[in-house]
Amino acid sequence: MPKILVAECKQEVSTFNPQHSNYGDFGIRKGDELLQYHRSIRNEVGGALSIFDADSTVTIVPAYSAFFITSGGPLETSAWERISAEFLDAVRTAPSVDGVYFCMHGAMATPEELDPEGWLLRETRKILGEHIPIVVSLDLHGILTDRMVEHTDAIVAYQTYPHIDFFETGMRAARLLLRILAGEVRPVTAKVAIPALVRGDELITATGLFGESIRLAQEIETGPFGLSAGMFIGNPFTDVPALQTYSFVVTDGDPALAQSAAVRIAKSFWANHHAMQVPLVSLQEMARLVLDHKHGTIALIDAADATSSGASGDSNAIVRELIAHAYKGRTLVPIVDAPAVQVAFRAGVGATISVNLGGTLDPARFQPLPVQAQIRLLSDGHFQSESFGEIWEAGPTAVLESENFTFVVSSRAVNLYDRSFFFSHGQNPQVFDAVVVKSPHCQKHMYADWCAGMINVDAPGSSSANLPYLGHSKCPRPMFPLDEAVSFNPAPQLFMRQGETK
Ligand SMILES: [Zn+2]
Repeated sequence: MPKILVAECKQEVSTFNPQHSNYGDFGIRKGDELLQYHRSIRNEVGGALSIFDADSTVTIVPAYSAFFITSGGPLETSAWERISAEFLDAVRTAPSVDGVYFCMHGAMATPEELDPEGWLLRETRKILGEHIPIVVSLDLHGILTDRMVEHTDAIVAYQTYPHIDFFETGMRAARLLLRILAGEVRPVTAKVAIPALVRGDELITATGLFGESIRLAQEIETGPFGLSAGMFIGNPFTDVPALQTYSFVVTDGDPALAQSAAVRIAKSFWANHHAMQVPLVSLQEMARLVLDHKHGTIALIDAADATSSGASGDSNAIVRELIAHAYKGRTLVPIVDAPAVQVAFRAGVGATISVNLGGTLDPARFQPLPVQAQIRLLSDGHFQSESFGEIWEAGPTAVLESENFTFVVSSRAVNLYDRSFFFSHGQNPQVFDAVVVKSPHCQKHMYADWCAGMINVDAPGSSSANLPYLGHSKCPRPMFPLDEAVSFNPAPQLFMRQGETK
């Protein structure tokens, strides 16, 4: 009759975003509310609950869930202290349990704590002791620190990019935890650090070269003695001392296999790493291409201001360039600007206002753009994601029209890797000549399948795919593509829980 504690602490940040994220950037849920919410959406916790719910012998102990509404800058110290205290209090005050499932992202950071997940896991161990199995699911953009692996029994990671296997990842983690609890398996983990930070289309697992390494990992995970395997490419915008790429393999009591398999995955990745960059087009070249373009919608991919990667969302760099070139095509633009929204709410629908747009959050990169605009729609910014059904909160939001530009202006950043933000504010990207997409990648059907063209723009921003532009100072060096002539010598590290035998 295993009792299983379920908890979540999940956030991804860009340390290059000057705005710190805060407690209000999380949805916090406890107890039955945690269960109700996660049973209704297809994320990792939901997937894990589906496995536990299907086993009548399991008692679920829902402890705590802090789930980031969208990415942002480093987590404010006071917010981290509050969240970590709430998380550990929930672990401490829970009824005694036999096992633990944690959902984490792996790319959190605060100004002082550069491995929050590892810290939480170590503190959890101090509370629960060394013999309660802990299985953690993570995003493959997480940064797999030694401390995280040391204080868990097994790690399970996403195997898709763009991510579509949240639910399945939770299911895999839950199944593995149940096998550990049943005494069927004894996990040992190996990881290999790879000095590379990567971006671009080759990371799309269904079609790109990264998919080769993931499929190898899947073969190992489902093969003899395999329990879990995968890769962590890190969030390149979370500049912390452990930021690099890792392969990892968890086997059932076979350290030699774990190490050799992790090296195989790492080598398959390294063989392709040079291709994992984004060919970017300068702002000026973008404007030329857009002006030449005749029919159909063109997507202007602004990965540098990708809110889902932790950027601020207040870039107006592309619009500024289009205006400078007197572009007259109808253009749809998402932008975060709380002061402009306040002006719009005071004026009301139908009014014309003069406001500055952009540069309120990252003023070193973006200068305010003065516009005269008509207010077409005002909303509370509360809408449902077309991707996963989650509720996203943009805060008070205004649709402003200024000549050929339609701005959907939110008070806070929301994910823009699908079209939910536009649709929920009455805007269909397909009727525009150009649409600014603040995301590194989208599911194909969101834009690529129907757009007449896609341009990856080299704009400024705290999640730029032009990685050398960002100025990393904490990650290990030399590092591809920040440095020249980086070499790779696979050196597997082995992690075994107390009591494991070779
Ligand atoms: Zn991710």
